[in-house]
Amino acid sequence: MSFTVLGLSAELLRAVAEKGYSEPTPIQSQAIPVILEGRDILGAAQTGTGKTAGFTLPLLQRLNTAPHNEGRRYIRALILTPTRELAAQVEESVTTYGKYLPLKSLVIFGGVNINPQIKALRSGVDILVATPGRLLDHVEQKTLDLSRVEILVLDEADRMLDMGFIRDIRKVLALLPKKRQNLLFSATFSDEIKKLADGLLNAPTLVEVARRNTSAELISQVVHPVDRDRKRELLSSMISSNDWRQVLVFMRTKHGANRLCEQLEQDGISAAAIHGNKSQGARTRALADFKQGSVRVLVATDIAARGLDIDQLPHVVNYELPNIPEDYVHRIGRTGRAGNEGEALSLVCIDEHEFLRDIERLIKREIPKVVVPGYEPNPSLKAQPIPNGRGSRGSAPVHARRTGSPKGADRAPGQRARTNPTRPHAQGSKPKHEQSTTANDRSRSVNGNTQQPSRSAEQNAPARHRGERELPALLKRR
Ligand code: AMP
Repeated sequence: MSFTVLGLSAELLRAVAEKGYSEPTPIQSQAIPVILEGRDILGAAQTGTGKTAGFTLPLLQRLNTAPHNEGRRYIRALILTPTRELAAQVEESVTTYGKYLPLKSLVIFGGVNINPQIKALRSGVDILVATPGRLLDHVEQKTLDLSRVEILVLDEADRMLDMGFIRDIRKVLALLPKKRQNLLFSATFSDEIKKLADGLLNAPTLVEVARRNTSAELISQVVHPVDRDRKRELLSSMISSNDWRQVLVFMRTKHGANRLCEQLEQDGISAAAIHGNKSQGARTRALADFKQGSVRVLVATDIAARGLDIDQLPHVVNYELPNIPEDYVHRIGRTGRAGNEGEALSLVCIDEHEFLRDIERLIKREIPKVVVPGYEPNPSLKAQPIPNGRGSRGSAPVHARRTGSPKGADRAPGQRARTNPTRPHAQGSKPKHEQSTTANDRSRSVNGNTQQPSRSAEQNAPARHRGERELPALLKRR
């Protein structure tokens, strides 16, 4: 199928062609015509499926075909995202796809000085991409007006709830006009999301694409069994001998990520770490260096990697398996994106065998095991428990394992591991990562002044709700 049959305008088709897309992804071919008709959407899709263009293209077209006839711009579309990185990436897409349209967009998020955002808002914006906390800061300061929003997008709604934004989202909803188009995207579906969708959407059309764990054919997965203290040697040797230029490596902890980075550098392999203790500026720099090739290895924790969009990433390495099996699916989803082939390798030591079994149970397939000659595991080694995780000998009950994180595991600054996902922070307060501002802010407006976020991460907690279900399962029940 070609983009031309979807009903998009020449300006948008031109921007899409310049981006190099030859055909729409499944979520795009399903969502675009429905959104163009002005209908609400319940989208079951995660990052990597092309969902951003799936909602951005028709949103731009709708705003452009019904231009406002007042002299001053006002916020006509609001896109809420859980993390700063995702907000920045979504707004970048809005700018890219809307480059031939006379619409103006802006991204706002916490952790940076609010003043440049106020200035940019004052000059008029059609499309606002925001994280919920900072949006409410502006509402409190009366620096923006949401009373004429025509289209609302909740992107990665499940993660917004995981991060404790439900109260903030409800406050935002109360400020919007009743008559509007709503687009809600979520990869998974808890009771909380279902409640939110029920209250928000008006006769929604369901668009869904298979999750990565059912459509991972494009990703070749392999496990290399290896002793824990030989992983680093094996990784360095694989990178050098295969001449890999761009590898994303996953660790469970921030400390582990830093250490591995240093070790790779010692081996003469350029590497950068990205995790919740790094300043936003350092993270942005590391990602930019990795994308443009001056850093070969990006070592990331699960939380830091959420929402990262790196085109055509060829290799993902699980240096350590995650203790939450769903995180494995998110991790390998970083490769083989939007139709490209990718390779996901896992270096697995004896301590992680139970993690591996949990993952294989989740993805409903066994991952081939290939021992690398010279790195055969020592059969006399015994498993050691992984702190707070579940090593081969560990015995944490499943729910405890799912809601906790390993000691030192990456999570949002100020965010504690939650056992009660429905009440993540005190009434009236905001998640901490949304609260502070620093002087080193550059706000980021579509029309020019690019701003870099300056402070540390706004990220989602890895906690998964108990009772969380896949969206299709929920819909069968409806
Ligand atoms: P998303 O799921 O929106 O994060 O998109 C994932 C990646 O797919 C991004 O790098 C997009 O640039 C890319 N992408 C989106 N639509 C297409 C398409 N139709 N063809 C090829 N790549 C695409």
